[in-house]
Amino acid sequence: MRIAVLAGGIGGARFLRGVRVACPDDTITAIVNTGDDVTLHGLRICPDLDSVMYTLGEAHDADRGWGRKGESWRIKDELRAYGAEPSWFGLGDLDIATHLVRTRMLEAGYSLTDVTAALCTRWQPGVSLLPMTDDRCETHVVVELAGARRAIHFQEWWVRYRAAQPAEAFVQVGVDDATATPAVLEAIVTADVVLVAPSNPVVSIGTILGLDDLREALVTGPAPVVGVSPIVGGVPVRGMADACLPAIGVEVSAEGVARHYGARSAGGLLDGWLVHDTDTAHVEGITVRAVPLMMTNDDATADMVRAAMHVAGVRV
Ligand code: GDP
Ligand code: CA
Repeated sequence: MRIAVLAGGIGGARFLRGVRVACPDDTITAIVNTGDDVTLHGLRICPDLDSVMYTLGEAHDADRGWGRKGESWRIKDELRAYGAEPSWFGLGDLDIATHLVRTRMLEAGYSLTDVTAALCTRWQPGVSLLPMTDDRCETHVVVELAGARRAIHFQEWWVRYRAAQPAEAFVQVGVDDATATPAVLEAIVTADVVLVAPSNPVVSIGTILGLDDLREALVTGPAPVVGVSPIVGGVPVRGMADACLPAIGVEVSAEGVARHYGARSAGGLLDGWLVHDTDTAHVEGITVRAVPLMMTNDDATADMVRAAMHVAGVRV
């Protein structure tokens, strides 16, 4: 069986670990958000791709939630000593090696898809890891700063300001000229099932769906699409997704997100939707099932994945 998974960073990575456990003999393709990508100190950084790659490659720092285990920060300290801005981004020494390899390959003309595959030969994530696009398409956030309305890179808003400045809007810079990669489109049209990880509905999944051709492939494709709610009891399980949903006029609830994604039968994304067992959701055209949605370990996550497969009507 072929399984395609739409994923952001940490939520996507944890979910994919569960897919790997639940479906060990199947072909799993992760289609990952690249809207967070940014160039800092001349290095091309892809936070969500790296979160998935490190987490599936057992190289991640499980306590911190992002980056490499055993990380050190000597280069960051040196940059700060030089007054080299920006100093707010967590650039670890081990992580920088990844960014150096990526940046050099991109500058040599390789696509991000090829670069990601090359990096994965080291980490062996056990899934095929695909950036949603090879084009530059970066999320910016419109905020008020020092009395002026400005659009800043998503990373600056998220990491530097901890999403404390209310977002007025999210803008995908470059999206009009960006297309999904052929590999992504093929993964969608040949999939037996598409799963939507409990990733941030706005700046992870929303960004992926911002690519018209990708969205079209999902909406019209043959495979059932089942999503998992990142919102439990009206709050995000981890992180700051509640800073994003109100900016696009979506209620912070499992039902609000399902309504926002919409039923595939009505031109939306979903055939099925998992909510936490204490939540409910009613959206016409979407089959809703309530099961435990806490990704406390891979086995618990694998149970969620099996429930999603069941809703999709495919065997596991
Ligand atoms: P990021 O790119 O690193 O911010 O990560 P993602 O966008 O992939 O995922 C972030 C989302 O994961 C947050 O909105 C959380 O609500 C959600 N999340 C994190 N842990 C859990 C969990 O255990 N269960 C569920 N249902 N959602 C989770
Ligand atoms: Ca992210």
